[in-house]
Amino acid sequence: MSTSNAQGSIVCPVGFRFAATAAKIRESGPPDRKDLAAVVSEVPCAAAGVFTVNRMCAAPVSYGASRLPAMGIRAIVANSGNANALTGARGAIDERAVAAAAAAALQVAPEEVLTASTGAIGTPLPVERMRAAMPALAAALGADVVPAAEAIRTTDLKTKIAARTIELDGRPVHMVAICKGSGMIHPQMATMLCFVATDAAVSPAVLQATLAAAVEDSFNTITVDGDMSTNDCVIALANGRSGARAIEGRGPELDRFSAALHEVCAELARAVAADGEGATKLLIVDVEGLADRALARDLARAIAGGSLVKSGIFGGDPSWGRILSAMGARLGARGLDTDVSRVALDIQGMRVYENGVPIPFDREALSELMLKSEIAVRLDFHAGPEKARALGCDLTYDYVKINAEYYSTPKAGSPAAAKAPSATTSGPPAARDIDRDAVVEALSYIQRFAGKRAVIKYGGAAMIDPTLKRSFAKEVVLLQSAGLRPIVVHGGGPEITRTLERLGQKSEFADGQRVTGAEDVRIVEMVLTGKVNTEIVTLLNAVGGRAIGLSGKDGRLLTAHKLAPAPGKPDLGFVGEIEAVNSDVIDMLLDRGYIPVISPVGMGVDGVSYNINADVAAAEIAVATGASRLIFLTDVAGILDADGKLITSLRAGDLEAGLGGAIRGGMHVKAQAVMSALAGGVQAVHIVDGRIPHSIVAELLRGARPFGRLSYPGP
Ligand code: ADP
Ligand code: MG
Repeated sequence: MSTSNAQGSIVCPVGFRFAATAAKIRESGPPDRKDLAAVVSEVPCAAAGVFTVNRMCAAPVSYGASRLPAMGIRAIVANSGNANALTGARGAIDERAVAAAAAAALQVAPEEVLTASTGAIGTPLPVERMRAAMPALAAALGADVVPAAEAIRTTDLKTKIAARTIELDGRPVHMVAICKGSGMIHPQMATMLCFVATDAAVSPAVLQATLAAAVEDSFNTITVDGDMSTNDCVIALANGRSGARAIEGRGPELDRFSAALHEVCAELARAVAADGEGATKLLIVDVEGLADRALARDLARAIAGGSLVKSGIFGGDPSWGRILSAMGARLGARGLDTDVSRVALDIQGMRVYENGVPIPFDREALSELMLKSEIAVRLDFHAGPEKARALGCDLTYDYVKINAEYYSTPKAGSPAAAKAPSATTSGPPAARDIDRDAVVEALSYIQRFAGKRAVIKYGGAAMIDPTLKRSFAKEVVLLQSAGLRPIVVHGGGPEITRTLERLGQKSEFADGQRVTGAEDVRIVEMVLTGKVNTEIVTLLNAVGGRAIGLSGKDGRLLTAHKLAPAPGKPDLGFVGEIEAVNSDVIDMLLDRGYIPVISPVGMGVDGVSYNINADVAAAEIAVATGASRLIFLTDVAGILDADGKLITSLRAGDLEAGLGGAIRGGMHVKAQAVMSALAGGVQAVHIVDGRIPHSIVAELLRGARPFGRLSYPGP
């Protein structure tokens, strides 16, 4: 089977288009937040759906569940920000009003439109605002699935897309799915939505059966605390436009289609569990060796959903006692006398309990394994052939924070408010949710930064995700008001790749650096300086900063020459090596209170432009400007060794040895930049996880008492 996945290029199924727009569905928040999405087929589709069985379900669920499986659906219109649940009889009326408005804009019939909603419960849907946004939604239709996937998110940190291309009847058949959801689902707010679009030809009945089986093995293995939301739904549309013969019934074609659908759902389910609200770890629980599959599944869920187990996992504790206790409690509560005498428990592949007794294990080794981002728990009853898996995540401080503050600030008199100094007045968030001692400690620590320069390399998800973008901008402005002098150096990776793709060019990387042809360098410059840089400057200024955009060519900030290919390595084309940094320009801006935002384009002789890796540029700029800190924002917790463990200190030799080849690609470039910055006099370099909001401030405050996290030189 030929497959492509979300990491590769996402091919839009033939005859489908996607769109997103901002309809101001939320009462508060930025007015440009995209919150309305559409999946539209140019021809009627076979449609299937799996819906929450919650009896207090939302209006779109009632409509969808009564309608599917069916032939003749053309569009799904989904919104975030409002669940259209528990609003009484008007829920159903509003649902159809939105469908009708969408139908008019999309030029289809209202009964060809399904809707889905996610967000706050109990507030009527803002139908008028949604109606007004429909023309913009229709105008935004295109082959790019990303905006739609972004628009359906609520507390999700990540946009979730999965895609497969398979061959059926000698033709390529495409499948794309978008999904939103957080693994730890508070019954009052969260939801899992998933929409699958495929150009396969398949009957509604076959699609329904295949989808139900795929959901059973994927989304239904995720445990949700409080079990199920009012709005969960998975909808699949198949429009048959691939031209492949219709899948009639059992046979190799159906097997291939079913496998692809299973894969897509499994990939998204994993992403949902890993992106649980506040989650830092994915928890995979396998219960095996039982006579009854349903029991195996129930126990797996009970373990993966146990609050004590989850908080133990967050703390890096093997939690074997809690795991066995959760299992035993579940059996007892159900009045089952299942034989537990031969139960064996493995955590991260290490046997910790067997035949009724704990067995000695290497505590140190297991503790290290507990630091990984995926925790595997396997329980074997040795009493039958059935097994089941549950996916969950850890329970963190942030989970409570996210859910306590979802609708409003903590109420006076509530335990949450009791911890907050001024909960009865509506003070700024910082005054509400940080305790006084911590504030004083933080302020006195932060004084140390007054007048110091810090270069922040901005990259990864924090550059793409709208929520993370905003939190980054606020953070930088906040740090400046605390006296730090931030200098932002940014990359542009995904944006450049996307633009090159749009122009029909491929992106090639060698050792983590982009191979840049003569044509490419113009595009790189256009995107980096013309688009990405401008956007960052706008964002910083919109939240009250005073940012000024610069390319490395402005004021001859970065002079460069062509990077000579290392022996045995490919020629990278117009990738440059910095000759000199003109720190004058930066001094001038910093002295006048501006935040320089630098796109790493270097100026060669005769004005030739060179693409300079942003990590390298950030390090050189940090050295040249006498910065005391260099902070890299990236999509991992830091530099990981071959076992996935965080490396908290680096020596030059380590890198030459490549840590057994474990540090590769973009991280190798970064690690080299870390070394050269330290060698050049930068006091400390931090690599922070840009997927988590406010991680720069958190990391800098943590500096008072290093927690063994990644800052160089290590503690
Ligand atoms: P950025 O936008 O932050 O520059 P890059 O993709 O260039 O991101 O570099 C970071 C990536 O390097 C990580 O997301 C990871 O996929 C990869 N990587 C390779 N080896 C390691 C390692 N040992 N530790 C952490 N990440 C690594
Ligand atoms: Mg990089």
